[in-house]
Amino acid sequence: MTTLTLTCADIVRYLSDYLEDNLADDVARAARDHIATCDNCRIVLDSTQQMILLYRDHGRAQRLPLARQTELFGRLAAAFSERRPPGQG
Ligand SMILES: [Zn+2]
Repeated sequence: MTTLTLTCADIVRYLSDYLEDNLADDVARAARDHIATCDNCRIVLDSTQQMILLYRDHGRAQRLPLARQTELFGRLAAAFSERRPPGQG
């Protein structure tokens, strides 16, 4: 049995499916394994979940509007590639 390994980019791509339980078992497991060991992806997951909860609280939309989602993921992807060492800036 092979073990699937996901990258941060994969997590970002699969995030909405992951949150909605739409992933195949092995992909979902690989995603969980990655998130458990990756601070970046934990932050992404937390902020996405909070945003979804906010939307639900307001009762305006059950799903994140796609444009918002794309914007958020784009910002996160940029943040990953522009990470600065702590204590700078
Ligand atoms: Zn990651």
